[in-house]
Formats: sequence, C-alpha cells, structure tokens
Amino acid sequence: MPVVSVDVDPGPPSPLPPLRVAVVGAGPAGIYAAEALSRQDAVPVAVDLIDRLPTPFGLVRHGIAPDHPKMRAIRDTLHRALDHPLVRFVGNVEVGRDISSTDLLRAVDAVVYTYGAALDRQLAIPGEELPGSLAATELVSWYTGHPDADRAKVEAALARARSVVVVGVGNVALDVARVLARTPAELEPTDMPQHVLDTLAAAPVQEVTILGRRGPVHATFTTQELRELDELAQATVLVDPADLEPATAAEEQAAEERHVARNLAVLREWAQHTLEPGRTPLRLRFHARPVRLLGEDRVTAVEVERTVVDEEGRASGTGEVDLLPADLVVRSVGYRGTGLPELPLDERRGTVPNEAGRVLRDGRTSPGEYVAGWIKRGPSGVVGTNKHDARETVAALLDDVAAGVVCPGGGGVDDLVSELRTRGTDPVLLDDWRAIDAAEVALGATRGRARTTLHEWESLLAAVREAAARAR
Ligand code: NAP
Repeated sequence: MPVVSVDVDPGPPSPLPPLRVAVVGAGPAGIYAAEALSRQDAVPVAVDLIDRLPTPFGLVRHGIAPDHPKMRAIRDTLHRALDHPLVRFVGNVEVGRDISSTDLLRAVDAVVYTYGAALDRQLAIPGEELPGSLAATELVSWYTGHPDADRAKVEAALARARSVVVVGVGNVALDVARVLARTPAELEPTDMPQHVLDTLAAAPVQEVTILGRRGPVHATFTTQELRELDELAQATVLVDPADLEPATAAEEQAAEERHVARNLAVLREWAQHTLEPGRTPLRLRFHARPVRLLGEDRVTAVEVERTVVDEEGRASGTGEVDLLPADLVVRSVGYRGTGLPELPLDERRGTVPNEAGRVLRDGRTSPGEYVAGWIKRGPSGVVGTNKHDARETVAALLDDVAAGVVCPGGGGVDDLVSELRTRGTDPVLLDDWRAIDAAEVALGATRGRARTTLHEWESLLAAVREAAARAR
C-alpha cells in the first residue's frame, strides 16, 4: 500500500489547563490570596473562594467594629478581587461538613486555607462560666450581626450591665469598651442590626473598666485606636497616674519604643482628667489581673490582684487584691485557631503547622496544601498584614508549580460548584451575594442608613431566593 503523506495542520497549541485553586475562607487573607493568584501571569489560574457564610469579608464584616465605618470601607477594595473574572466566590459551603479537606484537595490542584482563628481564648479562672461573663468574640459576633451569634446569651448579659469590666488591653478590648460606652445617637448611623441598636440603647451601662494584667508599656493596643476612647460623646477616660510609671528596668526599656512612648503620652494626658457629673467613667487600669469572678447565679464582681512584671516581661501576682463590682465581664484576651477535620493543628499555638505557608504534616511539606492569615501565623496584625502574608503563601504555591510539585489539570472534578451541588449543598455565588448586599442597603435605607446587616441565615438566604425568583 502506498504511503500517503498528509500535511496535518496542528493549529494553535492547546491552552494549558488552568491551575485550579480552592481558597477556604473569604476574609481578608483569603481575598488577598485570591488576588495574588489572579494578578500574576506565570500560571493561568481559576480560583474558588469558599466561605462557610453566604457573605464574604470575614472579620471585615464580623470583626471590625461597626462604629469604624472608614475601616470597614476596606470591603470596597477587597470587592475588586471578588469581581475578578478568574475568581469565583462560593459561599454557604463548609469545608469539613459539606466536603472533606481530602475530597477538596482531590477535586482541585491546590487548597489554601485562610479560615482564621474563630475561637476565644479563656482566662481559666473560677466563675468564668457564670452568666454575665462573655467572650469578646461572642459580643463582637452579636453586634456585627453574625448569623451564628448567641443572641439570647448576649442580650441577657447586657440587660443587667451597669458596671462592665473588660479584661485585656488589645484593640479588641478597646472596640468592646468603646461600643458599650457609646450613646445610642453615636451608634444610630452604623450598620448594626436594629435589635443590636435597641439592646445597646436599653443597656444600663454606668461605668466601664478595662484591665491590663501588665503595665501600659506592654499593652497591645495601637495609638490611633487608643486616642479614639477620648472622642466619645458621653464618656470620660480615666487613668491613675501611678499606673503609668515604669516599675522595672524592663518596663523602662519598653517605654523607649516609639509606639509605646506615643501611647504613654496619650495616657499621661488622660491622667489629668476629672469626671464631670453625668458622664460615663471609662477607666483604664494596669497591673491588674482578674483572679476570679464572683456571684451566685450571675457575675456580681471581679476579684482583681495587683501584679508586678519581671525582667522577662511576665506578670505575677502580689497578693494585694480588691473587689471590682461587675454585672458584665468581657474577656478580650485574644483569639484561637481551630483545626479542620483531616488538617493538622498545633494545639498550643492554635495554628496549622507550616513553612512560609506550606502546610506541614509530620514535619514535611504536604504537596498542594497551604495556609495564610491568622490560621498560618496566629491572631495578630491589622487587615493589611494579611496582604504580605498571603503573597508569601501564593509565592510558595507558584514555586511548587514551577518545580512540578503541584500540577495544573490534576483536579478530579470538572467543576467544583457542580460537585458541591451533587453533594446536596446550595452554594451562594457572587450574584447571590450581590442580592444580599442590595437587600442590606435597602433595609438600611428604610431608616436612613447606608446599610443594615442581615443577621439571620434565613433572611440572608431569603434575599438570594427572592432575587433569583425576580430574575426568572
Ligand atoms: P491582642 O492584641 O493579642 O490582645 C490580647 C490582650 O489580652 C493582651 O492585652 C493580653 O495581655 C491580654 N491577655 C491575654 N491573656 C490574658 C489573661 N489570662 N489575663 C489577662 N489578660 C490577658 O488581641 P486582640 O485584642 O484580640 O486583637 C487581635 C488582633 O486584631 C490584634 O493584632 C489587633 O491589633 C487586631 N485588631 C485591630 C484592630 C484595629 O486595627 N482597629 C481592631 C481589633 C483588632 P498580655 O500582653 O499580658 O498577654
């Protein structure tokens, strides 16, 4: 048979399959990771940005205090990453419940976990479980309208809150103290749900005391946030000047740091304040640690012990105690990360073990698994800190692609959203989120506000259903 030679036109080279990445957690770290992936041209990508909630933004929505509208406005910047054509928001999907971590990693080429640190740290002192004792995370979830907030618990605690004690001197403690000391008129324009505004307006708060277990030189709040305490309409910040003097060489040395010196200057100014009648005292006490919460069926007081700080910066009790009346105690002593089933966790640090963002399993990097944000480095830094952090992780991922450790086109399902639907979940996509967004803006407008947060699963998902019905 004669051999016929046929010139076959090979056509344009077939495009490389995109690298399919699932990012788990649509807070700042997840959004910055999605942005870093979509804004590089080394590798074509398709990013699914998954969140347990039907709403994006994580702690920007359910952490940043609602009376900080300028800070919350960062969501507009973050939204640009959600709008990118290579990024798909996939809300209302819980990894570990709707799909396991193992199945997720099989379905795509790589997974970046950015689900944060949602749990509160505890004081581990007697009385901590009494009614009237709350974690800052519980209060913050409630006042930002998180759909899983324990309304009954928080509202019962606030109904009797005349004397409030906030434990901890970080920025969250300042948020909590500030929100509780604000007048209804100050909170009125915020996006807090109406029941939150009503409950706060009815709360009988007469005094707020913030307790730092070490001296002011070791406080973790930042100067800008500290200064704001003095801008409240009806509250006066009070500081005991004796609390501000460095007691040890270690404290003297710490006082020389620039940000500490700035804080001390602000506090020294406030040490001159006197309380005018009719104003709410907002006290900052240092070298004061809670030893136990007292009360029969609810908190009535906190036993506070004076501390000294040693050369290593550790606080220890002096045995000198006093009783501080308290109907509400809010512990604001930091957040803690938890594990996902099948994902390793360093229990002590509350983070997923990692090397520059690569997940470590038994000390070895696990191909295709990454972390960024608080679950990578612990609960520290401001929103912008996550940008650099997420970029480091994405750089590691892209290096692994270049090294052939992670290969595009390896994902086991054609489309993650279709796969999730066959598993019985109902993912909320970008247009659905836009429907929620529009419903919140419309609800806010009924009372002359820019927005009011929808705080129930049912109302969030109803907004999605109603928009879909209108579109049909
Ligand atoms: P944080 O800054 O780590 O503060 C925790 C506070 O709790 C510290 O004062 C700590 O004191 C104290 N503490 C811990 N264990 C304690 C105990 N057993 N008894 C008494 N006090 C105890 O944490 P955060 O306030 O939760 O904030 C988390 C992160 O979010 C921070 O990076 C923060 O800056 C950021 N954030 C920023 C803003 C903002 O920019 N406006 C707002 C909110 C949060 P020691 O130092 O003695 O341990």
